[in-house]
Amino acid sequence: MNKNLKSFTLRQLGEIVEKPYNSIQIYRWIWKKGVDRIEEFSDISKRLRKKLIDEGYFVGNIGEKFRINSSDGSVKFVFEDGYEAVYMPEKNRNTVCVSSQLGCNLKCKFCATGLLGFRRNLMAWEIADQVLQISKKLNKKITNVVFMGMGEPLLNFENVKQAIRIMTSHIGLNIGAKHITISTSGIVPKIYELANFDRRVKLAISLHSAIEEKRIKIMPIAKAYSLREIKEALIYYLEKQRLRITIEYIHLKGFNDTDEDIYELRKFIRGIDCKINIIPYNKVDYFDWEAPNEEDVYNFYDKLKKILDNVVITIRWSKGRDIYGACGQLGYQLVHNAK
Ligand code: SAH
Ligand code: SF4
Repeated sequence: MNKNLKSFTLRQLGEIVEKPYNSIQIYRWIWKKGVDRIEEFSDISKRLRKKLIDEGYFVGNIGEKFRINSSDGSVKFVFEDGYEAVYMPEKNRNTVCVSSQLGCNLKCKFCATGLLGFRRNLMAWEIADQVLQISKKLNKKITNVVFMGMGEPLLNFENVKQAIRIMTSHIGLNIGAKHITISTSGIVPKIYELANFDRRVKLAISLHSAIEEKRIKIMPIAKAYSLREIKEALIYYLEKQRLRITIEYIHLKGFNDTDEDIYELRKFIRGIDCKINIIPYNKVDYFDWEAPNEEDVYNFYDKLKKILDNVVITIRWSKGRDIYGACGQLGYQLVHNAK
């Protein structure tokens, strides 16, 4: 078993220490104050501190390799063996985009992380610690977390769930469950599991096309789960969690932005409480897609607005494009170095 004290939920920690109150104290030291030496937990008895250390417990951190500041205020952090997290400040909130895996197996035909291939699953504490480390290093309160970094969160779901339990603890990082969004390429059985998860977190689905053949062309995983199965799972999630779903739709100019694409999208979202988030494709070398310019994106937006009528549509002008920290660009350096 992992003896890093960051691996445990508050309740699990309570089973290790003697009195429940001790677990609250320890949680506060680790996740609120960011202290990582058990010796310094001054409000718990010397005896308990010694006992923990003697039993092999410790507080481990993920190490920062380097960071890059973007001109838009976001900061990309590269940790340990190369997983990345991006800090994105906004007016009323500070969001961290976390990675759940190093690399990704699913190889979507527009994503740098996919090019990297799957290297490993991150452990729960490595995921939660991305938030703590960024908060500490930048001295900012983090209010929102999105699982939109490297990896497919629903394919490392046990660790992702544990990380969410840790991050939502009131004693620690205290991120509201509703301020956490999981983005998935559509792993249907796991969407059902998310619907029954004991934390009410938001769901974003990378749809990108409502036309089966087109979706398969750009997302190999679409062969495993059909649009119909995805829709059923989304409806189940909505019944259980009652949180509006975000439909992510990458704008690949000339590929998925025709009237027919929008009519199919309209059919797909019928009966689903959702908003649409257009993500202009961010350039990744090794793929031939053309990145749409602002005018292209607004034209597409206008068309969507007209045909979809009454649906909330937003555009995600990705942050950190200049530092290869935008959607789909994570892992670029690793890919680039490996070529
Ligand atoms: N694996 C998950 C979450 C990480 S990707 C998923 O696929 O949903 C976060 C979002 O960025 C997804 O919607 C993904 O499709 C999108 N994305 C990937 N590559 C991109 C690129 N080059 N430009 C814009 N968005 C991209
Ligand atoms: Fe993996 Fe998501 Fe990238 Fe697809 S878009 S390769 S699922 S990280």
